[in-house]
Amino acid sequence: MTYIASDTRYDSMPFDRCGNSGLKLPLISLGLWHNWGNVDDYNNGKAMLRRAFDLGITHFDLANNYGPPAGSAESNFGRMFSEDFKSYRDELIISTKAGWDMWPGPYGNFGSRKYLISSIDQSLKRMGLDYVDVFYHHRPDPDTPLEETMGALDYIVRSGRALYVGISQYNTAQTKEAARILRELGTPCLIHQARYNLFDRWIEDGLSSVLEEERMGCIVFSPLDQGLLTDRYLTSIPDDSRAGKGGPFLKVDQINDEIRSKIVQLNQLALSRGQTLAQMSIVWTLSNPVVTSALIGASKTSQIEEIVKGLELHKPFTSDELKAIDNIIGQ
Ligand code: NDP
Repeated sequence: MTYIASDTRYDSMPFDRCGNSGLKLPLISLGLWHNWGNVDDYNNGKAMLRRAFDLGITHFDLANNYGPPAGSAESNFGRMFSEDFKSYRDELIISTKAGWDMWPGPYGNFGSRKYLISSIDQSLKRMGLDYVDVFYHHRPDPDTPLEETMGALDYIVRSGRALYVGISQYNTAQTKEAARILRELGTPCLIHQARYNLFDRWIEDGLSSVLEEERMGCIVFSPLDQGLLTDRYLTSIPDDSRAGKGGPFLKVDQINDEIRSKIVQLNQLALSRGQTLAQMSIVWTLSNPVVTSALIGASKTSQIEEIVKGLELHKPFTSDELKAIDNIIGQ
């Protein structure tokens, strides 16, 4: 059936300015790391994109290596885009990345100019796009000079392949240096994509201040710690969950008694605030002023609906609640 986007798609989603750029991002963005590969149900992925857009999620995040197999999330997204979203291109922020292993040999990973420019060309082809909105360097490269990597990002913008550039997984010092080089090149770094959630607060230890100083946006990935910070694993490991499916990223043995005890207590706290744990975990990330958008993953449309609903239900945390959260995490 032909997809026509909901007329109410901009009625409730708040948008936040990304650093000091002209670009605004929805408070919730959707990532296609899991559940859009060739191993996944195509129609489920398509339904999730439709529902997300109907709820005001205008930002879809990809990478060259998302799948499995690597590249298939971009190919499937490209097909969904051509079936459903072509006429909405100017309402969408589509990002992709390069940095991790993509093809064999010395030019298929890390941060050389050769790799990055070849990779963005492959990504555009797979997605059937003329340009992406944001192109990221996906992880720092210990060997390639940062000038070369940032120079490639600058070129990718100047050649019309991307409108903005970002970095991901860069530490505080690397971020400062990348921002300086990009500023000097005249292509400011739009955004940092960093891991941040109740269990992993590393950005509070230096990176946040640099992002504020540089007036760079911040989109946080795995804000639910891959599903741990939800009611998914309170009592068991469901077969259809990320851990239950046995993939390499969230392993069953990570869900030990200590983690489960924390999740159960956090869940009780969330319920006492009238929220689910997933809803509380997302609004907690967004309550850090440096965070522009929470980049969630999903395996079902109902999960996206729950998270978006959580923005409406949100009330600021009291200092006692924040202390209680810290106590639970620190146990
Ligand atoms: P999350 O922490 O949001 O975890 C998503 C998973 O949590 C879902 O797949 C689902 O798991 C579960 N979930 C989501 N909503 C709910 C809910 N309401 N109730 C119960 N369970 C829920 O994010 P991801 O780890 O998936 O990462 C998000 C995105 O971030 C990626 O798609 C990618 O775009 C980006 N990313 C970037 C990285 C980088 O290096 N730059 C690294 C990793 C991610 P289940 O399958 O069990 O249902």
